[in-house]
Amino acid sequence: MESQTSNLRHLPLDFKNNKEVVQEAIDRGASRAKIIWTKTVAIGNWTRMQCQFGCPHYAKLHTCPPNTPTTDETAEILADYQRALLIYAKPDYNMREIVVSLEEAFKSKNYFRAFGMCSRPCDLCEECTIDTFCKYPEKARPTMQGCGIDVQGTVFNNGWGDVSPSKPCSSVENIGMILLD
Ligand code: SF4
Repeated sequence: MESQTSNLRHLPLDFKNNKEVVQEAIDRGASRAKIIWTKTVAIGNWTRMQCQFGCPHYAKLHTCPPNTPTTDETAEILADYQRALLIYAKPDYNMREIVVSLEEAFKSKNYFRAFGMCSRPCDLCEECTIDTFCKYPEKARPTMQGCGIDVQGTVFNNGWGDVSPSKPCSSVENIGMILLD
């Protein structure tokens, strides 16, 4: 059941009226930003399997598997939202910083559920304090693929096939997403 928060803000139904939200991302360095339906977010267990078998960050970061929500949990989380803001930025921009800053800005505008994710591993500490607690929980966010999100499929579903990453954690295709309302 949806929680009843009287002043929880929702985006206008007509996407054309969401320019303000898109502009917030552009102002922070995004080259592109687009409101998408969360039902267009592609998910699959294969993404976490690729993290587990082949990625040096597996089990070494609080923001990567197995410390992230499973694919099934992510599917349930996505079902709590209708829309998200999909973002693309050039490789030299820090997408984690962009999504955290946007999350904060949207929360201050009563999008209380706003939650940012990015497609690159956490870069905050020289060495992750994986055996204890995250040192910067307010700034660290999980990778999309580590939560079972197929980043490539998601950007493709939303008409951005030209910036679709060729592999998870791509250092070239810099994708982020804020779950919004
Ligand atoms: S902020 Fe530091 S402790 Fe937290 S996930 Fe990132 S690297 Fe690990």
